[in-house]
Amino acid sequence: RQAQYRRLRNKPSVTKDGVEIRLLMNAGLLVDLPHIAEAGAAGVGLFRTELQFMVASSFPRMSEQLSQYAQVLDAVGGRPVTFRSLDIGGDKVLPYLRSIQEENPAMGWRALRLGLDRPGLLRTQVRALLRAAVGRELKLMFPMVSHVEEFIKARELVERELKHSRRHGHPVPETIRLGVMVEVPSLLFQLDELMTEVDFISIGSNDLFQFFCAVDRGNTRVADRFDTLGVGFLRALKLILDAANRAHVPVTLCGEIAGRPLEAMALIGLGFRDLSMSPASLGPVKAMLRSLDAGRLSARLLPRLEPGHPDRDVRAFLRQFAAEQ
Ligand code: PEP
Ligand code: MG
Repeated sequence: RQAQYRRLRNKPSVTKDGVEIRLLMNAGLLVDLPHIAEAGAAGVGLFRTELQFMVASSFPRMSEQLSQYAQVLDAVGGRPVTFRSLDIGGDKVLPYLRSIQEENPAMGWRALRLGLDRPGLLRTQVRALLRAAVGRELKLMFPMVSHVEEFIKARELVERELKHSRRHGHPVPETIRLGVMVEVPSLLFQLDELMTEVDFISIGSNDLFQFFCAVDRGNTRVADRFDTLGVGFLRALKLILDAANRAHVPVTLCGEIAGRPLEAMALIGLGFRDLSMSPASLGPVKAMLRSLDAGRLSARLLPRLEPGHPDRDVRAFLRQFAAEQ
């Protein structure tokens, strides 16, 4: 199997009917990066910057962050990298950050909420990223955005840092693209406003599903209770995709479902073209899509998401469809 996937590494990531699918990799530490060449990823679709903070014993200094980000950009050899600003809180704990006990940490003081309340932290990170990406492209997205205004505040912070750098004669990135992780359902009702503000979006389906179905992503008692291929969630994903396409905003999906072949098949059927996943999933997903007729799948899948369709078991349909390929 491994050898079979390795052979696929340099084969095009194109479906049987000629649809190109961009397969990107999720990463968080420097040790992940050799996988980009080994697995043949087109870039890093999600770089989880909090990992460096989680393995440290105190806040990494600006210079340490800068060095990490520069090494990431060096290691990918010109391929695109999407950094995500610190996503701490929730299931991601920093032993050296004193935090108050929260009853619902996943919905508490985490990610960009913390970043906006403690702008010193976010500013240091943004400064490190701006310097690491001098002369190249900086793509940065913000986690756990619930309202468009939070993104606007984060963007203002980046703009202030950029001005600061220029004023002090520091060189800056060649281009800067700022985006939002769509992982809080409230954004589904602000999609049009969101699309006018962002340069790109990435769907964080792990958290989006958790909040969409009110099902704790880490609680095995309930985790299997609802299906990520349920009609409701697939409609939600399609809604986001359609809004992004209408506004010509690039959209990636970077939650764990992108790395599961049957789920990835469904995503391609919905119309997703950029998927980011853990390195070990790249081979299996590529093998799946190279034997997939994406047009035929879409034609059969999309009517099933219309209200009134008698058969709501999408997973069973997809299994059957996969068996026929
Ligand atoms: C997600 O929420 O889907 C995601 C990709 O981010 P994380 O798993 O790091 O929360
Ligand atoms: Mg998340």
